[in-house]
Amino acid sequence: MKVRVDSTRCQGHTLCAMIAPESFELDDVDGHAHAIADEVPAGHREQVEEAIRSCPEQAIIVLTEATLAAPAQGDPR
Ligand code: SF4
Repeated sequence: MKVRVDSTRCQGHTLCAMIAPESFELDDVDGHAHAIADEVPAGHREQVEEAIRSCPEQAIIVLTEATLAAPAQGDPR
């Protein structure tokens, strides 16, 4: 399971880092969360899934083969 945080949606509520502190942390400068590692270790998967459900901005994105293949916003591909 791979995840990333969409910084354009993240509002820095901190919920994800409280629920899954081994997987998310907030940036000291801009206050946005980011995934500590792209690949979520199997033992942290439940916490991360709860963090995804709890994020009020739906900013945590699960990277699947489809999302990895899709061009990012602003990508001229
Ligand atoms: S819970 Fe969502 S909006 Fe809040 S810090 Fe985490 S990713 Fe950002």
